[in-house]
Amino acid sequence: MTNSFKKTWLQISVHDLINKPGESRTIDIHATLPEDWVSGPSKVPAGSVLVITANLESVHEGILVSGGVDFEALAECSICLKELKLAFQVDFQELFAYHIADGFDYEVQSEHVDIEPIVRDAVVLSLPFQPKCEPQCDPVEVPEGVTLVLAGQERPVESDPRWAPLAGLIPDDIDKV
Ligand SMILES: [Zn+2]
Repeated sequence: MTNSFKKTWLQISVHDLINKPGESRTIDIHATLPEDWVSGPSKVPAGSVLVITANLESVHEGILVSGGVDFEALAECSICLKELKLAFQVDFQELFAYHIADGFDYEVQSEHVDIEPIVRDAVVLSLPFQPKCEPQCDPVEVPEGVTLVLAGQERPVESDPRWAPLAGLIPDDIDKV
């Protein structure tokens, strides 16, 4: 092991596949998340179990890792603000090169591949920015006297008829109010 090699929680040994193009192996991992993975109003909380199935394939340039991850996320409904539990299944694929200088983003290090960043990207990018209940819920009740305006539902501003003659003076390539 070199000094730069740091063992993390999703590191997989590929010792048996190094320089053996054509050989492959499938692994199943039940990994417990050490920290929250958050995206906007959704998160996969620390302690969640990620169920990962990955195929490790030896290719000429390195190790091709492809697979999928099953997990549950917590989110807040953007309409009624209730907490939701959502189940996801997302796929990932990445080549871990023997020589990162060849233009690849990931490298086989000390006969291991660290799939944590690729699993994390796949998970976080799948989290919804506007989670909603299924089937659709009722909007949150607003106290009397408060007007709730949803984006896109604002009424257009009516122009004052006294300004109508002036509208003809605006060149056609400028939007008239
Ligand atoms: Zn809701």
